[in-house]
Amino acid sequence: MQCPACDNQLSPMEAGGVTVDICKGGCGGIWFDNYEFEKFDEPHETAGESLLNIERRGAVKDDQAGKHPCPKCDGIVMQRNFVSVKHKVEIDECPMCGGIWLDAGELAETRTLYNTEEERKQAAATYFNDVFSTDLLNLQTESQDKLARAKKFANMFKFITPSYYIPGKQDGGAF
Ligand SMILES: [Zn+2]
Ligand SMILES: [Zn+2]
Repeated sequence: MQCPACDNQLSPMEAGGVTVDICKGGCGGIWFDNYEFEKFDEPHETAGESLLNIERRGAVKDDQAGKHPCPKCDGIVMQRNFVSVKHKVEIDECPMCGGIWLDAGELAETRTLYNTEEERKQAAATYFNDVFSTDLLNLQTESQDKLARAKKFANMFKFITPSYYIPGKQDGGAF
């Protein structure tokens, strides 16, 4: 499959019993098939942490000007469902197959910006707290339909969250 954001080929990667497709050596984006994340429970949390360690080119230009084609479905444009106010994180969802595209470039970047593990942990904690407690909660309060989406996205985030930071214990406990 081709990356929906840059012209790279996606590579399959197994994490926590789930196979995803990642833009390795490209933008660092992650494609999740429709895994019904809303049904994910505690054991899956942090299982996908290794997905954040994929090598990526710095500052990859997004050629698609915000509209990303589904890498699976021919001719289907994904819907942008969530953009964090404070961070450069985007979640697109395919209306056809229900797959999710996560552009978590900034999150992956935070891991290279800091020298010590302590600083990296702090940066990740701030990042996840912002996205969960502010942005996802806003999405949740808009409508019932969005509540289901917010839960799906929150669980997807928990899946890739570093084990030293579990958002459920913070303000985002609503999820
Ligand atoms: Zn890419
Ligand atoms: Zn699709």
